[in-house]
Amino acid sequence: MAQATTIDDVIDQHLCMGCGTCAAKRPDVVHMADTIAHGRRPIIASDLSEVEAESLAISCPGQSICSVNTSHEIGAQTNSYDHAAWGPVLEVWEGYATDPELRYSGASGGVVSALTLFCIEGEDFTGAIQVRARPDAPLLNESIISRSRGDVLSATASRYAPASPCERLADIQGSNVPHVFVGKPCDVAGATMLADENEEIENAIGLSISIFCAGTPSLAGTQELLQSLGFGPEDILNEVRYRGRGWPGKMFAIYRKATGKTVRASTSYEEGWGSVLQKHTQWRCRLCADHLGDHADLSVGDPWYRPIAPGDEGQSLVVVRTERGRHILKKAIKAGAVVMTPRSISTLAASQPNLGRAKGAVFGRALTARLMGAYAPTYPGMRLSRVWWHELTLSEKVKSVFGTAKRVVLKGLLRPEGAEVLDEISNGD
Ligand SMILES: Cc1cc2nc3c(=O)[nH]c(=O)nc-3n(C[C@H](O)[C@H](O)[C@H](O)COP(=O)(O)OP(=O)(O)OC[C@H]3O[C@@H](n4cnc5c(N)ncnc54)[C@H](O)[C@@H]3O)c2cc1C
Repeated sequence: MAQATTIDDVIDQHLCMGCGTCAAKRPDVVHMADTIAHGRRPIIASDLSEVEAESLAISCPGQSICSVNTSHEIGAQTNSYDHAAWGPVLEVWEGYATDPELRYSGASGGVVSALTLFCIEGEDFTGAIQVRARPDAPLLNESIISRSRGDVLSATASRYAPASPCERLADIQGSNVPHVFVGKPCDVAGATMLADENEEIENAIGLSISIFCAGTPSLAGTQELLQSLGFGPEDILNEVRYRGRGWPGKMFAIYRKATGKTVRASTSYEEGWGSVLQKHTQWRCRLCADHLGDHADLSVGDPWYRPIAPGDEGQSLVVVRTERGRHILKKAIKAGAVVMTPRSISTLAASQPNLGRAKGAVFGRALTARLMGAYAPTYPGMRLSRVWWHELTLSEKVKSVFGTAKRVVLKGLLRPEGAEVLDEISNGD
């Protein structure tokens, strides 16, 4: 069956999700650029040899993410259904940042930001790789190395648009001082794969935090969102935010009309995600079996298991996956950076049933894609058939097969991905 063996295969065969791991591994021959239709994509030097292209594919989470082998830390749990569905889980907590500004600005309870800032200010961390809106072109994201509270604040809340935090790993390589790495599950998997083969990167990552992720919409998604908010081709975009400033907060844009009038328009998170952004999710994300950051030290998402009361200030759900994560979280609680209440592992299924089903669907989707001659990522050791069987109803199982067959045809997945690259995108165009 079709298997991606080079980085060009990964891109051509719709398996790239734009994390930037390849650009960090070989910054001399790869750089990341934005495309409207697909997301961020690597631009690869034309003289790259076959061997070099294969080497880039080896550490690419687009083509493969393995299950986490931490049996020494989680013992018998590795054989449990919970491990197959939710990855390694040492503890589950719910809580919030005690810094009111971080909590208010954060996507849920501001916990990712509070832990990041705690590491920079309270521990010996030098900085943190994070994602934020580009100040000069807020339609786009940029990856930064945060070094101060101001930096961390500027990176609060989820950006439902393409981002490549792994590309910044090249900048911390060899620093020999710990940094926090914050990213989506695929970003953290890429950072882990690179750290496994490069000691200088391993030594520069002192803590990895993954946000939960249902999939990244392409820039076309944000463009449609902006249009629905009245943004026109002549308007200048000042800000687009998807979450935060409340829980979950509104999706909003601030832009200037040609007349000089400034407009602030918003829609609810549910409407913006459900009716607009979700349908622009990248194809690779539909084949994703790691929505909760299995490879991270800590994974953070929303405790959706209960309805959010009006005015609720925001809470984050935290999964402790490693001893390193447990150690830092404990210290942050003791120092008063976050307030946490323990929860049971069943809170994950109650909070994220959609992510359980999304992982379950991957077995049927990947099998169908391969049988039709399309490519699909591999997940060694993840036991996805078990999750498929357990999480999906009969009709969802059937849909995972026939829905994929339809998409392979309609999306043209047997043809190479064509990408009109926007290296120098202008603001809001
Ligand atoms: C595309 C996407 C899909 C998501 N899907 C789900 C979901 O299905 N269920 C769920 O519970 N949560 C989901 N989240 C995560 C959720 O929105 C919150 O990020 C999470 O609850 C943490 O909140 P917080 O207040 O603790 O984080 P904050 O303190 O607000 O910090 C957020 C951190 O995430 C980083 N970040 C933001 N956007 C990106 C990005 N695109 N790529 C990499 N890093 C980024 C920021 O740099 C920041 O460090 C998703 C997030 C994204 C970006």
